[in-house]
Amino acid sequence: MSASMKACVLCCSDGRLGPWLFGFLTKNSLLGHSDLLILPGGGISLVHGSWWRRLLCRWLIVSWLRLLQALHSWETLYVFHHEDCGAAGGSAAFDYNIEEEHWHGVKIKFLENFLRRRLPGVSIKISYLPKNNW
Ligand SMILES: [Zn+2]
Repeated sequence: MSASMKACVLCCSDGRLGPWLFGFLTKNSLLGHSDLLILPGGGISLVHGSWWRRLLCRWLIVSWLRLLQALHSWETLYVFHHEDCGAAGGSAAFDYNIEEEHWHGVKIKFLENFLRRRLPGVSIKISYLPKNNW
C-alpha cells in the first residue's frame, strides 16, 4: 500500500535552490509529505527548448506526475521556476531582470494551462523565484 502525500513539487535541479526548497517544505509542513520531482529546468523543460526535447520532456514528466498522483493521491502541484536558470539560458540570456521575469511569467501562464488540462482536479501553483528569494 502506498502512502498518501499532501503535494508534489516539480522543481529545477539547480543545487542553489536546495536550501530554499528545504525551507519551503519545512515551513509548509510538506517535508516528508510531498513527492519531489527534481529535474534540470523543472517546469521550464515542458515549455522551452527544441520541439523534440519539449515533446520528450512532456511525455516523461506528465507520465511521472500522473504516476505519482495515482500512487500518492496529492491534490496540489507546486512548480518553481527560478532566476538564472540554465534551462532558460541563465540570466545572461536577458538584458534586464524585468525581461527575465516577464519571460518566465509568459511561460508560467502557458504551463498552468498545459498542466491543468493534463492533471484535472489537481491545484496547480507555479511561482517564479527571483534570486533575492533563495
Ligand atoms: Zn534551473
